[in-house]
Amino acid sequence: MVKVKLLEDTGDSVTLQLDGIDRSYANAVRRFCIAEVPAMAIDDVVFLENSSVLYDEILAHRLGMVPIKTDLERYNLPEDCDCGNPLGCHKCRVLFVLDAKGKDKVSTVTSGDLVSEDRDIRPVSETIPLVKLAFGQSVKLEAYARLGKGKEHAKWQPCTVAVLTDGKNEGTFNLMVESAGGLRAGKIVLKAIELLEKKLQEIQVSVGSATA
Ligand SMILES: [Zn+2]
Repeated sequence: MVKVKLLEDTGDSVTLQLDGIDRSYANAVRRFCIAEVPAMAIDDVVFLENSSVLYDEILAHRLGMVPIKTDLERYNLPEDCDCGNPLGCHKCRVLFVLDAKGKDKVSTVTSGDLVSEDRDIRPVSETIPLVKLAFGQSVKLEAYARLGKGKEHAKWQPCTVAVLTDGKNEGTFNLMVESAGGLRAGKIVLKAIELLEKKLQEIQVSVGSATA
């Protein structure tokens, strides 16, 4: 019989003791936490102005790596969205605007300067440095975030750590997942199990029709 005990849950990290589960199943859940559970990240940036010292590409890459609050109930993966629009819609992408100008001293533009069209979908931290601006320099851009998966690019990994270790008692394992901040760690594990179950059902249907 499967027994799961919650050892720790801080919101950002969760540790579960798994009993009665084969190591390979537990590891499949761990891998789904990293590679299959979607997270929100900036994926497309339109520069209107950039007179900073950073090239557009470097700044766009930095924006992509900013962890963003994720809502899996309200947003769809672009490939699953019914809009069918390559530019996306309000259910599969979020627009951020950045409009920063260098003041008299050198100033640092941070993730907190990104203005989101959806106040619930915003950077996890407001203090991530993006670029420094000297007097007269400016950056003006539109950035589009969307859901994606860690197997496509590391910026879409919802967790920073997902490890499976031997538990205290024989035959038990401890699964520890630490979130990048976009989703609660417990939610990442639950979603991973849901997606693994869905994948197994798809296999079941395919095997069923292949052997019918
Ligand atoms: Zn859409």
